Amino acid sequence: QSQELSQARIDYHVALQALQEHGTRMVCTGKMHTDRICRFDYLCYCSEAEEFVFFHSNSSVMLPNLGSRRFQPALLDLSSVEDHNTQYFNFLELPAATLKFMPKPVFVPDVTLILNRFNPDNLMHVFHDDLLPAYYTMKQYSDLDDEARLVFMEGWGEGPHFDLYRLLSGKQPLLKEQLRNFGKLMCFTKSYVGLSKMTTWYQYGFVQPQGPKANMLVSGNEIRQFAKALMEKMNITRVEEIEKDGGSAEDEKEKKDEYIVVFSRSTTRLILNEAELIMALAQEFQMRVVTVSLEDQSFPSIVQMISSATMLVSMHGAQLITSLFLPRGAVVVELFPFAVNPEQYTPYKTLASLPGMDLHYISWRNTKEENTITHPDRPWEQGGIAHLEKEEQERILSSKDVPRHLCCRNPEWLFRIYQDTLVDIPSFLEVLKEDMKTKPSFKKTKPASTVHPGRVREPQCQTSVQTTNEAKLTVSWQIPWNLKYLKVREVKYEVWIQEQGENTYMPYILPQQNYTFSENIKPFTTYLVWVRCIFNKNLLGPFADVLMCRT
Ligand code: UDP
Repeated sequence: QSQELSQARIDYHVALQALQEHGTRMVCTGKMHTDRICRFDYLCYCSEAEEFVFFHSNSSVMLPNLGSRRFQPALLDLSSVEDHNTQYFNFLELPAATLKFMPKPVFVPDVTLILNRFNPDNLMHVFHDDLLPAYYTMKQYSDLDDEARLVFMEGWGEGPHFDLYRLLSGKQPLLKEQLRNFGKLMCFTKSYVGLSKMTTWYQYGFVQPQGPKANMLVSGNEIRQFAKALMEKMNITRVEEIEKDGGSAEDEKEKKDEYIVVFSRSTTRLILNEAELIMALAQEFQMRVVTVSLEDQSFPSIVQMISSATMLVSMHGAQLITSLFLPRGAVVVELFPFAVNPEQYTPYKTLASLPGMDLHYISWRNTKEENTITHPDRPWEQGGIAHLEKEEQERILSSKDVPRHLCCRNPEWLFRIYQDTLVDIPSFLEVLKEDMKTKPSFKKTKPASTVHPGRVREPQCQTSVQTTNEAKLTVSWQIPWNLKYLKVREVKYEVWIQEQGENTYMPYILPQQNYTFSENIKPFTTYLVWVRCIFNKNLLGPFADVLMCRT
């Protein structure tokens, strides 16, 4: 660090002069604090006050210039969790002239990304809230490259997964507590503040019960690209990718190499009969079964294992985020303790079900109360309920289903989610066998095409009147421009016909490029006709400009 600072001192006077003359400059994207990322020149941080400082001068820029709306509630979210009141970012303002009376600033020469990690102790949060958003924020701004500096302002220590954060850039990330080592006033030459929320798929239940985000903007492709980049940084290569070029139809050999990973937890939410479960899996699928746990293996070695696995089996919990490293076509089996409804806790189901993620998700739930071990005497954060009133304890103990609840301290939820479970093997295998029937294919799945059709070209209509109550409407069009370059399994066209003034329409799916409609077509009537192309049943193209067809 001191080395880099001395490097910065080479241009110290230039930098200081620039700051004094031009002050801070800010330009942001986003209309709302929840979708905003700001880029700054000479954003400063005062470690004494623990505040960022914007220095005003004649050439300062502050866009958006919100006035005091900047505090309603904040300029932006510093973590990827939407509108969380402990994660807001703002700055104090001072005239640049006051620099004369302040401690000499230390300049940070690196392009810096300033953010809050949301919960760096929890692996799911590490990936979903921090690593993926930071990775794609850095993709969005090309000067946030491998030389970029990350600064984590949430105020926590490194945490157990700091090595993962180190993979994002070639430079060591800085923690808030380390900033004071740089002196009382430090100024970031160029910085970005905030994180992209485009990749997040889950909301944790702060304002409504937890569930998938309403408007997901990420597909399996982006998750897989991220996983691939991270694996490269960890020096992991998928075994299947090396072997793939070898034999082609050696089904027998391939089967031998397939294996199931059981991800076990060693301290809480245990599978009490793990050995029995492993035996059952091995026997049922005639595959090797390996166990991994965060306590026993390094993270890269776990990823190495998972990246070529056929199936991943685990209790509900943060370790299941590692399913993003599974190969396409793999199966994720999530186990839930007694009284916990799998439909209400779906971060991993949602991940597995993202379009193009190509994972098959199965949940199993313990329905036998005699197979659960509760821990009423543990501290409340591990699900203990001893601190509650007797009546409330009784109610929780007799309940067979945790009712919907908000995050994060619902005692009934914590009590149930921290139970240990004896997995009932027959019911477990039954669920697995039943569900595997609907699995598309057990073989390695190839990524499906996501190329959408263009608009159909030259749409036309011709009409004719047959009798006083019969008419014909012929619609024709040319194939979309991109189709001539593509091999598409199935090309269909959708035609919507609406009588002018009516608010319903008739939809038709057609294999050919023209069609004459005579049913329900009336003479001397104007019809509005929309045509679009569909590839492989679900890739919809845009509608061509509406046709006005008068019979
Ligand atoms: N954890 C673990 N082994 C355990 C219990 C927890 O490795 O026996 C990890 C877990 O993967 C997560 C963190 O510790 O990264 C916090 O676990 P917690 O049970 O609080 O959260 P959850 O897994 O329910 O998200």
